[in-house]
Amino acid sequence: MCVFCEIIKGNIPSKKEFENDEFIIINDVNPLAKHHYLAIPKHHYKYLCEMKDKDKQVLNNIMITIPSLQQKLGLENGYRLIINQGDDAGQTVDHLHIHIIGGETLGWSK
Ligand code: 5GP
Ligand code: ZN
Repeated sequence: MCVFCEIIKGNIPSKKEFENDEFIIINDVNPLAKHHYLAIPKHHYKYLCEMKDKDKQVLNNIMITIPSLQQKLGLENGYRLIINQGDDAGQTVDHLHIHIIGGETLGWSK
């Protein structure tokens, strides 16, 4: 079972900030900063390298949507986007997602 597929189907509850046909933006259940969201494509891919050319538009649309929601999400003062890919990066959910983190000054650590 993929937890993000279950969230997308509505079988696991989440606090949704945005939804369209291609992706959702939800609050992370374990926030690493004041505001921590996840942008999750509805199609299940684990890795960016699995995406076909025709699917890549969803990434473009996520990148356009995030700045349009900056105020609504409380990210007026800046934010950080992170995509963890694989074990070295600490990817724990095998469904591609973009972390959106902000709402406070962020440190930088390995
Ligand atoms: P990763 O480590 O794979 O880059 O990030 C997975 C993220 O998914 C983590 O920040 C974790 O807190 C979040 N997460 C895991 N399970 C759930 C869940 O059931 N609901 C929500 N909203 N976030 C989850
Ligand atoms: Zn999935």
